[in-house]
Amino acid sequence: MSQHLLDTSIEYLKGVGPGRGELLRNELNIKTFRDLLYTFPFRYVDKTSFQLIKDVYSDGQQVLIKGTIISMDKVGGKGRGRLEAVMRDGSGFIQLIWFQGIKWVQESIEVGKEYIAFGRVKMYKGNRSIAHPELEPYLAQNIDALKRMDPIYSSTEKLDKKGLSSKVRRNLIKNLFKKIGKSDLEEFLPQPLMDKLNLCSRYDSLRWIHLPGNKEEYELAKNRLKFEELFLNQLVLILNKEMRKRKMSGAIFSTVGEKLNSFYHDKLSFELTGAQKRVLKEIRKDMGSGSQMNRLLQGDVGSGKTIVALMSMLIAIDNGFQATLMAPTEILAQQHYTGITEMVSGLGVKVAFLSGTVKGKKRKELLRLLTNGDIDILIGTHALIEDHVIFKNLGLSIIDEQHRFGVGQRARMWGKNEEKEPHILVMTATPIPRTLAMTRYGDLDVSIIDEMPPGRKDIKTIHRTDSSRPKVDAFLKREISEGKQIYVVFPLIEESEKLDLQNLQDGYERLLHQFPRPDYQISVVHGRMKAESKDFEMQRFVKGETHIMVATTVIEVGVNVPNATVMVIENAERFGLSQLHQLRGRVGRGGQQSYCILITGYKLSKEAKHRIQTMVRTNNGFEIAEADMMLRGPGDITGTRQSGILDFKIANLVQDQKILQVARHFARNIVEKDPKLLLKFNSRLKKYLSEQKRLAKDWGRIS
Ligand code: ADP
Ligand code: MG
Repeated sequence: MSQHLLDTSIEYLKGVGPGRGELLRNELNIKTFRDLLYTFPFRYVDKTSFQLIKDVYSDGQQVLIKGTIISMDKVGGKGRGRLEAVMRDGSGFIQLIWFQGIKWVQESIEVGKEYIAFGRVKMYKGNRSIAHPELEPYLAQNIDALKRMDPIYSSTEKLDKKGLSSKVRRNLIKNLFKKIGKSDLEEFLPQPLMDKLNLCSRYDSLRWIHLPGNKEEYELAKNRLKFEELFLNQLVLILNKEMRKRKMSGAIFSTVGEKLNSFYHDKLSFELTGAQKRVLKEIRKDMGSGSQMNRLLQGDVGSGKTIVALMSMLIAIDNGFQATLMAPTEILAQQHYTGITEMVSGLGVKVAFLSGTVKGKKRKELLRLLTNGDIDILIGTHALIEDHVIFKNLGLSIIDEQHRFGVGQRARMWGKNEEKEPHILVMTATPIPRTLAMTRYGDLDVSIIDEMPPGRKDIKTIHRTDSSRPKVDAFLKREISEGKQIYVVFPLIEESEKLDLQNLQDGYERLLHQFPRPDYQISVVHGRMKAESKDFEMQRFVKGETHIMVATTVIEVGVNVPNATVMVIENAERFGLSQLHQLRGRVGRGGQQSYCILITGYKLSKEAKHRIQTMVRTNNGFEIAEADMMLRGPGDITGTRQSGILDFKIANLVQDQKILQVARHFARNIVEKDPKLLLKFNSRLKKYLSEQKRLAKDWGRIS
């Protein structure tokens, strides 16, 4: 296949060469013409309109001024001299100052001529000046070439040092556009779509996003590129979903069997909530349809997803299939294993556990039983998806807390049954803002448990500073005296693990002092501990042998101790919103009033304050997820960074929700009418998608 011009190595671009080529590669991951083209400016300097000098009054403002240089003088002594010029337009005067390159400026500027000056204004005692302005002679005929928006590219210290400024980058882009023409940037959006939405061409959009002549061009380019990005994201997701529905037939679970029935009637000690019933119905419908289920189950912490998962697995077993439940951590997997084993006791369901810690003979035997079909439910960590784990006939895979897993792991589950892909149920307790769910899980059907089991009281969230520790301690003692248990959580930030551990150690010692043995018992769990001792400490707390559990964020996901009523979060300002919410969800699981106490230093950044206030204000996970996204931007929401598909270059899920809706609408429309993209006006889209597929080294990221 002949190489596309855009795939040319960056050093071959005029103005780059081997040295700069290496810099661009190392610093910005710009390897080819294409990379340069698709690395967009992050802002622009507006040089589209002139300002009158009299209107210039704010310090630091960037201005473009047209005027005549009326004087130019060298002032000051040897070595420290400077050049001062005065520019006049019809409205006033402004001083231009140079401290360097004086000789050159002096020689190139003519007093009495008209110039265009651009720079940052300094106001000092009513005088306006610009130091080191950009100066160009004013020529009436090329005024349009002068007026423009200059792109500013993100840079690094090294690039700055080596002089690869935005100005240089701009010139590189200009050189690039001398080499590439419209035929190198073929349009791929269907014409009817472009007409309907009034989108500019691909070529124009790429040219204008770097070199807009005016605001209109910039707006057109920006809109087109944002739309394009979101549209392709949605199209790929929806196409994949359709293709799977067509090609991947799932096992049909038609029987409502004995195990589900006896669980429901004999073992379940409570009534399912309406939401749980509805969601189960949706899942059953999927699993009976003949197509493979790919469903996302969202529900706030404590909403009762585990029961739904278990009942779905029982359906699989009743129909002669095996089921698996994968959790992101050893502790969580263990807890699922213990809980589920207990729940199905007496039903004749064989449950097994697999993680990295299951080794040697034990593992061998387990794998043998699994392949023979003697294990009904396998619960574990990502060890489950390793290749040598072979099921007899896997019918349903449940992935808990998907945000902890990469997207690829979901796909690997499909391969676990060679005849028919297993049904997939992805569960997440991290409510995801709508836009994020659409772009990340747009290929999944979504079920939501939006109702808490009855009797739950809202958790009271309180903000306290260090100084009110004595009060907090007294409160904790009161709770303990009533037989309740308490979590105390310390942040863990990987970059300074040592410090964090110290922090936890200090806190632990303080608590030991305040809550002395033998009246008080304290468990401690952190990431540096061996799995066995972690588990031991955890179990002591679960069994109620200890009153306080001191931990780093390892307890974040899934742990269920209904008797724990207080969650104390130390250095709460260092946690993100969704993490805080996750932690808070550890309490309030029994019927008793529960509390979350956020302890921070006295001084807080504006953002930290906002996070804490949001936590105090609301218990609603979706509200918190939205606030989190607004604060941090979608890229920083827990776990999404690893997912790959959210690395949008220009679209912004916070600002561009409207565009996303439109993109989704049209992507759906196209797939509905032409699922294989066979219509004439869709052919270029089809071609482009297959090119992209070739380019994406790791197509798994997108598919
Ligand atoms: P999630 O996984 O969604 O965080 P769990 O499935 O762990 O929530 O459920 C939390 C707690 O609520 C468990 O102790 C569970 O037994 C209980 N629970 C679940 N559903 C109900 C219900 N319908 N009524 C009462 N309690 C419930
Ligand atoms: Mg759970």
